[in-house]
Amino acid sequence: MTLLSVRMAQARILSRFQPVETETLPLNQCMGRVLAASIISSDLPFFDNSSADGFAVVASDLAGVSEAKPRTLQVIADIPAGTDPSVKIGRGEAARIMTGAPIPAGADAVIMVEDTDFDHRGPGVEAPKQVKVMKAVRSGENIRTRGMDVRKGEKVLLAGQPLRPQDLGMLAMLGVANVDVFRKPRAALISSGDELLSVEAPLEAGKIRDTNTYTLSALILEAGSEVISLGIAPDRLDVIKAHFDRAVDLGADLLVSSAGVSVGAHDFIKDVVETDGTLDFWRVNMRPGKPLAFGEYRRVPFVGLPGNPVSAFVGFEVFVRPVLERLGGISAEEAARAADRRKVRVELEEAVESDGRESYLRAVVEQRAGGLSARLTGHQGSGNLLSLVQANALLIIPAGVKSLAIGAQVDAWIL
Ligand code: AMP
Ligand code: MG
Repeated sequence: MTLLSVRMAQARILSRFQPVETETLPLNQCMGRVLAASIISSDLPFFDNSSADGFAVVASDLAGVSEAKPRTLQVIADIPAGTDPSVKIGRGEAARIMTGAPIPAGADAVIMVEDTDFDHRGPGVEAPKQVKVMKAVRSGENIRTRGMDVRKGEKVLLAGQPLRPQDLGMLAMLGVANVDVFRKPRAALISSGDELLSVEAPLEAGKIRDTNTYTLSALILEAGSEVISLGIAPDRLDVIKAHFDRAVDLGADLLVSSAGVSVGAHDFIKDVVETDGTLDFWRVNMRPGKPLAFGEYRRVPFVGLPGNPVSAFVGFEVFVRPVLERLGGISAEEAARAADRRKVRVELEEAVESDGRESYLRAVVEQRAGGLSARLTGHQGSGNLLSLVQANALLIIPAGVKSLAIGAQVDAWIL
C-alpha cells in the first residue's frame, strides 16, 4: 500500500465521476439544484418604466423651473403600474405615473411627486387635473430604460451553477417556469460493525450506538443529495452484501460505508465489494482517517470511510462532498475546490503539535481585533466527537509540519 497525499486521493476519486442525468423541474423546486443549461436573457427591464411615483413629463418643459419659479402642467392621464398607456404627452402636459408603470409616448422624464404641489399620495386618491412642478428634471431622469439592467442575449446564469434564492428570482423574471437541472444524486449509506446499536435500542454491554449514520446522512442532505439509508450491517459478509445489493437496486449513484475498512479481523467490506467489483485500499497521508477504500460494486462507485466518528466526518468532507457536488452537476474543477471555498486564514492562539500527516484539527475560530484566531477544542482522538461538537472549524496542518508556534498562520475550514 502506497501513502497517498490528500490531493492525489481526492483527484483520483473525482476523476471517476460524471454528473448524473438532468430533469426539468418547476421553478419552486429548484433551490440548490445545479443548472443544466445556461440561461439567456431578454431585455431587462422589458420596457421603459418609472422608478418613482410622480408625473411623466417632457423634460424641456421644465427648464429653469424652481420653487421660486414653478410651472403648472395639465394632467391628461393616470398611469398605474400594470397598465399599457395609449396617451401621448405633449408640451405643457403630464401624466400621473406610479413606480414600475410604462413611460407614455412623448414623455422623457418623471418628476417625483415630492417635487410637485400634489401631496395627496394615499391609495385611492384620484389624479389632479393640474399639477404645479417646483423643480427641473434631466431628460431620462427617474426612468428605467428597456435593457438597462440586462441586454437581450446576455448569459445571466451559467450551466453548472447551483441555484440560489436570487437566481430563482431571475428565472422568474425571465419567465422560466420549468428549469433544466441535474437531479439529486443518491448516496447510499451503510454502517457496519457488530458493536453497533440503533439509537432506539437500549445499550448493551460492549456495544455502542451507531453515530455515523446520523452524521453522514445529515452531511449528504446538506450537500444537496438524497440518502438511501441502509442502516446497520453486522460484520457478516452475506448481510453486508445484501445491503449493498439493495442500494444498487434502488439506483444509488454512490455507496458510502463507514468502518470495516481497516485491517481488523472482522472487516468484511473489502471482501463484499470484491465479490462483484474492485476495491483499492489507500493509506492517505492524513489525520484523522488514514485508511480509505475506494472502488466500485456492481459498477456503482464505492467510498469506504473509517469508522471513528470524527474520521468519518472528516473523510466525508475531504472525499465525499466533492464527489456529491460533481455528481450533482458541478464542474470537476469547481468540485475539487469544494474545500478551498470554505477556507480562511487564522492565527494560532496556542502551539500545535502534529505528526507530519496532513492534519484536520478541531478548533474554535473567533474574530479578534487582529483577525481570526483559533484554539483547539480538546484532545484530538478520532473517537472524541465532543471536540467536533464544540468546534466551528477544522484547522489544516499541512503534511510535513510537526509543530507550529503560537501566532503561526494556518488554513481553517469553517464548518
Ligand atoms: P473500524 O473501522 O471498524 O475498525 O471502526 C473503528 C472505530 O469506529 C471502532 O471503535 C468502532 O466501534 C467505531 N465505529 C464504527 N462504526 C461506527 C458507527 N457507525 N458509529 C459510531 N462508531 C463507529
Ligand atoms: Mg469494525
